[in-house]
Amino acid sequence: MPGFELFGDLERKEVNDVLDNGVIMRYGFDGMRNGHWKAKELERKLSETFQSNHVQLVSSGTAAVSIALAAAGVGAGDEVILPTFTFVASFEAVMMLGAVPVLVDIDDTLTLSPKAIEDAITPKTKAVMVVHMCGSMGNMEALQNICAANKLLLVEDACQAIGGSYKGKPLGSIGDLGCFSFDFVKTITCGEGGAVITNNEEYYINSDHFSDHGHDHIGNDRGAETHPFLGYNFRISELHAAVGLGQLKRLPEIIDIQKRNFNIIKDVLATIPEVTFRTVPEGGEESYGFLNFFLSDLNTARKVSNEFKTQGIDGCFHYYDNNWHYVRKWEHLKELKSLYPISEEVKSGLAYLKNADYSESDHFIGRNLSCLIKLSWTEETVRQRALKMAEIIKSIID
Ligand SMILES: *Cc1c(COP(=O)(O)O)cnc(C)c1O
Repeated sequence: MPGFELFGDLERKEVNDVLDNGVIMRYGFDGMRNGHWKAKELERKLSETFQSNHVQLVSSGTAAVSIALAAAGVGAGDEVILPTFTFVASFEAVMMLGAVPVLVDIDDTLTLSPKAIEDAITPKTKAVMVVHMCGSMGNMEALQNICAANKLLLVEDACQAIGGSYKGKPLGSIGDLGCFSFDFVKTITCGEGGAVITNNEEYYINSDHFSDHGHDHIGNDRGAETHPFLGYNFRISELHAAVGLGQLKRLPEIIDIQKRNFNIIKDVLATIPEVTFRTVPEGGEESYGFLNFFLSDLNTARKVSNEFKTQGIDGCFHYYDNNWHYVRKWEHLKELKSLYPISEEVKSGLAYLKNADYSESDHFIGRNLSCLIKLSWTEETVRQRALKMAEIIKSIID
């Protein structure tokens, strides 16, 4: 999935534009910039790509999630429903606002289980955050229905699914707000960066102001701008935005290559009856950044994962035993190891984690392997890789 694999003159040209006039900040300095507004230009282009009225670029995907929630008024004591299978950024971003992350089970889509959401809703629930993990998506229709019936905000974390769609709409553009990351391992990269997208003008204006100390961005004298409300600094720089402009041009090519490589591997693994694949909701089109498949049980998945490593099949993750993406290994969250005191609301709100039963999630993550799809592979390399993966799986099953 990583855009860093395709990197060169397109990005260099955009960055050089910025270096030529030296204005590396996105706001102000109008006279010096010779017409270069890289962040604004990238926002315009992303708004077309993601078919959303408004795009606010920010400093990271983690910041994007906090900003999206803040823009819609989520804060102290509010509960945000999240999946157990996600990135640590999800709960970090919620806790930064003093809100409580409520982790619930996933289903065979490897994203939020609609039933688990319904079971977790309380009077404090404000938002549902679906995380489109590893290039595919949640059952958006079911999630939209639940959110509408319970008057909850639907936020999409589409950081790992750039270029995927559901019923013709880009992932990220379906809920009330969508979040993207352009860090160095995402489908397209700015080095570091993120975006909040929305069709709601008020959420957009809030995101714009909040990510720049509450500045109203009216007029062309930053010192004279008013602060309608409190904010922070989550700005992206012009240099990062310039890299993103180059990368965005490559997005269609990146998705095409991913799709080709993904399908070669999937077709070979599909010949093994014991291998099954994650469910992609009807009308869903993956970004093909990862191929996720299930083996029959935890033990088999562990053995296959280890043998992949021994035999040089890199980039395949068994998240059950990995610290990155699954609740099982997040001791720092369960034990609330914080550098600073955490509010009583969040402390008591997270007490459920000590005894939470995530056997439903274990059932899926324990058997799942998630394999990164690289852009640099030739067709022949992918074929060889697929055959070797199949051979290893068969040797362990037999
Ligand atoms: C990468 C990622 C983020 C955070 O993005 P950063 O830009 O690295 O802060 C959030 N959510 C998910 C699902 C991610 O994969």
